[in-house]
Amino acid sequence: MTTGTPGDTYEAVIGLEIHVQLRTEQKLFCPDRTGFGEAPNTNVCPVCLGLPGALPVVNREAVELAVRACLAFGCTVHERSVWARKNYFYPDLPKGYQISQFEEPLATGGVFEVELDDGPDQAGVDRGDGDRDASGSLAVRIRRIHMEEDAGKSIHDRFPEATAVDLNRTGTPLIEMVSEPDLRSPAQVRAWLTGVKQVLEYLQVSDCNMEEGSLRVDANVSIRPAGSQELGTKTELKNMNSFSGVERALAVEIARQRTVVAAGGQVEHETLLWDERRGDVRPMRTKEESHDYRYFPDPDLPPLQVSSALIEAVEAELPELPAARRARFREEYQLPAYDAGVLTARRPLAEYYEQTARATGEPKEASNWIMGPVLAAMKARGLEADAFPVRPSHLAELIELVGKGTINRNVAKDVLDRMLESARDEEGEGSDVRTAGDIVRDEGLAQVSDTGQLQAWVDDALAAHPEEVARFREGESRLQGFFMGEVMKRSRGKADPGEVARLLAERLEAGHHG
Ligand code: ADP
Ligand code: MG
Repeated sequence: MTTGTPGDTYEAVIGLEIHVQLRTEQKLFCPDRTGFGEAPNTNVCPVCLGLPGALPVVNREAVELAVRACLAFGCTVHERSVWARKNYFYPDLPKGYQISQFEEPLATGGVFEVELDDGPDQAGVDRGDGDRDASGSLAVRIRRIHMEEDAGKSIHDRFPEATAVDLNRTGTPLIEMVSEPDLRSPAQVRAWLTGVKQVLEYLQVSDCNMEEGSLRVDANVSIRPAGSQELGTKTELKNMNSFSGVERALAVEIARQRTVVAAGGQVEHETLLWDERRGDVRPMRTKEESHDYRYFPDPDLPPLQVSSALIEAVEAELPELPAARRARFREEYQLPAYDAGVLTARRPLAEYYEQTARATGEPKEASNWIMGPVLAAMKARGLEADAFPVRPSHLAELIELVGKGTINRNVAKDVLDRMLESARDEEGEGSDVRTAGDIVRDEGLAQVSDTGQLQAWVDDALAAHPEEVARFREGESRLQGFFMGEVMKRSRGKADPGEVARLLAERLEAGHHG
């Protein structure tokens, strides 16, 4: 029997390299389009193909987006940074080099912190021991953020026995964010990445679509004896295309490294590819590994100059970021942490909530509606809040009808479904959703509170079920729900439930004593 391998006393150390495609329609050094999924090799020109004599010109919008991200992550943006050629041979790299930044990057020295206890996504995260602090937050330093162009794409599964190359992606503007090795577990990595992605989305710097490759994460990982300050030999994991893939790949690799060390071996410095289907990592061919990129400043591009005026202007226009918005939602709308976490996860949803809360003056009620039926309907239709056909004003009207007692909650859910059905199409193009007021009026859904009418339904329901009435009077009090259902059926859902409960109690009690 074993009580654990020596490897168990080793802690994991993880640093991330995150590639983010910037949300601009043009490439970094030429005006070709950057659209995803266009006909292969159509968005190319002499500049991104690297034909002799073609001169690169920097896309200013891309630089502004990059600066925005750098500032949001607390980095110092340098007024001067240098474009460098990173030289290597690969079929999808027609120039034979990639333009990146090396010795003098756009920005350095940031830090980004996520709260681990707030919000549903981060529940139950193992914080490790190293950097647990009282507030349950996780701060990871960002070593640098630099700009670079993307390479093309090799397609291995299209033609048997051949690799196809699509060069549309060459020259697409990216930033690369490099973290310090401050992360200690796969769960921490996932929580931190989730926060990073939220910020990038709020900034509208990238669409962060991982399936389309707009956000790619490489993970560097090593292990060391717990408590040691030295870094062990790391491996680099590539080819994960979701955050859960990153998490699983790291767990597998950490276990592998522990096994190697437990058996008295040494971890080798190598790059490993995650195989999603097999749930395993395998080495990349080592020849590609032994890179000497022979970086040198690009002779065709002057150093990138970012004026302090531009930096200040971008800083002044930074939007409210997720953490600040969560705090404000808790304060301004008195929301529980959980609600604030869900409602700020994505910027369009946060804006949808805020408009609804303001229009109704009922922030908690608005939160309940949105976190419940509205989010479910958005998910079912695959729509973001900003494309959802029921607009905040429509929802506010519905909530007000419930507040005034015009309809009860169950009918209101039905009315919401009818509003959705009335949207012209699932893309939510039409603003011609039938309003709650119209639906209630046209379909006679208003709540019935008239005592005479309610009394009649109650009496009818009780008369139809003498056996249940007898059982109730003998103490089977849970039959209350059954009677309530019978009355609601008779009213087609429109009876005022509070009134019905009162009348039922009255009638059943009366019989009991009489
Ligand atoms: P390399 O020279 O191999 O590219 P860098 O020092 O540039 O390594 O770091 C690249 C990434 O790897 C960074 O995110 C960094 O935090 C991480 N990293 C560096 N050394 C280690 C290590 N020993 N264990 C885990 N991560 C590491
Ligand atoms: Mg490096």
